[in-house]
Amino acid sequence: MKCTGCHSEEGFRTKEIHRLGRNYYICRKCGKANRPIIWEETNPTGWAKKALAIATEVRGKFLQSLTGYKFRILIWGPSEQNMSKADIYQKRQQIRDTLREKDQDAFFSEEIPSILDALGNPLPINVAELFQTEAFDLVINLADSSGSLIEAEKFTEGLLLRCLIWLRRGSRGFQSGVATQLANIGQPPIYFDDDDIKSCIITLASEDWVHAMRTQEVNWDILEERINQYRLRRKRWIQ
Ligand SMILES: [Zn+2]
Repeated sequence: MKCTGCHSEEGFRTKEIHRLGRNYYICRKCGKANRPIIWEETNPTGWAKKALAIATEVRGKFLQSLTGYKFRILIWGPSEQNMSKADIYQKRQQIRDTLREKDQDAFFSEEIPSILDALGNPLPINVAELFQTEAFDLVINLADSSGSLIEAEKFTEGLLLRCLIWLRRGSRGFQSGVATQLANIGQPPIYFDDDDIKSCIITLASEDWVHAMRTQEVNWDILEERINQYRLRRKRWIQ
């Protein structure tokens, strides 16, 4: 396996992200995170060749369906003005831009214009944020500023699995209170440290999470369609 960052083969250390159920490989030379390589170039013959042709066909169909699942993703975290968190702001940008490259509608909350009430007054921030989260499919929160920590505290329980939270390892005070609260509601954050900021694993794993959620949605829709084919008494009980 070669590093995608520096092409070195000097070796890797692994980093497990429990929430995603997968390992990433951190290059010992340049420190960049790599996804495991699963697809190997092979040149099979006979039945193995036919099996590969089927796999390629299935993959093609899957990728084609997936293009129909464009998600709206809201990305919370430190703002551009927060100079002490410039590295995290950069990660926010990296996540947003990577997702946009994959044709997903990713936005910072501050890119959404203020929502006004019937009289033209801006909605209170908590109401505006609540409506924003309803309008988005997924939320990624780099909870490393006071604003994003408050958002983690207020909104995670309502968002449940639609939310991915990153929290700095070894955090104290309000941050550790938020961590405890998240663990109590069964939504533990993913912890990161300075090495993770450098390795770009935050971006890589966030992108993988969005991808896994889109895949899950395709799965639900296929299952729903199949169930509906067999249901003769659909909705009759509640009409
Ligand atoms: Zn490398």
